[in-house]
Amino acid sequence: MLKLHKINKSFGDLKVLIDIDLEVRKGEIISIIGPSGSGKSTLLRCISGLEKIDSGNINIDGSIGMVFQQFNLFPHYSVVENIYKPLTVINKMDRKEAKEIALNLLAKVKLEDKADSYPAKLSGGQKQRVAIARALAMSPKIMLFDEPTSALDPELTLEVLQTIKDLSKEDMTMVIVTHEMNFAREVSNRTIFMDEGRIVEDGPAEEVFLRPKNNRTKAFLKRIN
Ligand code: ADP
Ligand code: MG
Repeated sequence: MLKLHKINKSFGDLKVLIDIDLEVRKGEIISIIGPSGSGKSTLLRCISGLEKIDSGNINIDGSIGMVFQQFNLFPHYSVVENIYKPLTVINKMDRKEAKEIALNLLAKVKLEDKADSYPAKLSGGQKQRVAIARALAMSPKIMLFDEPTSALDPELTLEVLQTIKDLSKEDMTMVIVTHEMNFAREVSNRTIFMDEGRIVEDGPAEEVFLRPKNNRTKAFLKRIN
């Protein structure tokens, strides 16, 4: 589904990604954890093409959807327009067909009743669920989430995590950067720990959380628990 080979990326003199090798298979749900500044966001941005890599190669089978910490909805579009406009503009889809897809996706994230509301009227959790529906509208083969709940209050975090959990049951391939360790452990089948631009541990989620091998993973998990 996705294969990264020896990815390197620097910002000026700062090496942010160092020899990253990663293979994601269809249906895998991978959580990426690690300290702030370890390169997690940059890795997702390189995968999605938002950031150019300096060396290495990336092979992707199909398109990618990305959900950010900040929801980035269009404020002057209604909820349903936020989801279907990209389909009519980018994919040249017929408006009626696109709107139907958008309404189905809104049902999936349990926001059918908000179709005609404007983003300013939504809670953070609802905005993030619209952002997830919008990413899904492009029929991605892989969904990348970059700390999708970091901007949310705890009670709103839960509804977004539930939406992602629901998606995980539909065989969607996902890579999720998160600080929600319980969620990562519960939802992902594989966990990657990044530190200073490198993948230092990569294994089954239960293994990484319960029996981390690397000392830096151990220290990180101890610190946040
Ligand atoms: P994480 O998501 O793990 O917190 P990031 O990938 O955001 O880490 O950042 C990794 C490092 O790269 C940090 O030191 C950050 O300051 C730096 N960095 C990220 N984006 C840029 C940029 N556009 N220009 C310069 N430095 C950047
Ligand atoms: Mg980040």
